[in-house]
Amino acid sequence: MGFALEEARTALEVGHLPVGAVVALGGKVLGRGRKTMASNHLDHAEMNVFRSVFTGPYSLSRSDPITLYVTLEPCIMCWGTLRHLPIKRLVYAMPDAYGGCASIEFHGHPPRHLSRPLEVLAGVRQEEARLLFLQFLETTTEPFWVNGGAPEFVAQVRGRGNSHAV
Ligand SMILES: [Zn+2]
Repeated sequence: MGFALEEARTALEVGHLPVGAVVALGGKVLGRGRKTMASNHLDHAEMNVFRSVFTGPYSLSRSDPITLYVTLEPCIMCWGTLRHLPIKRLVYAMPDAYGGCASIEFHGHPPRHLSRPLEVLAGVRQEEARLLFLQFLETTTEPFWVNGGAPEFVAQVRGRGNSHAV
């Protein structure tokens, strides 16, 4: 999570929502990513690190202990993508009451996912991540945020929402 927080700080330095992500095989970092564009629905930190690790031929499989570390609870796109990839464990820092999808359960469990359990650990280094988001909210000029976007998430970051720190 330390490397993911470093990526988040780098994103913040250039004015982006400070989300950082790391894919690791055991203790070995396979790739690092961060949110790279404002108001882009595809270039999330997770998607960027997925592209760097899982593009082209790779020999990783579900028998490998692969973990995604990310500073914010994944959205539905990143959640769905990580369920397709050979990732066995998700560790995230800040919950996202606005768009977080880590608690989604597949209704009826489609066959593809029946044998693909995912371990989820939430709230790891949450306060460090929250302070980066707070700094972002206090400095951003992005219209989405300036105009009151994601109010549930903003309330969490400002300490007025539900939180489950670990
Ligand atoms: Zn996402």
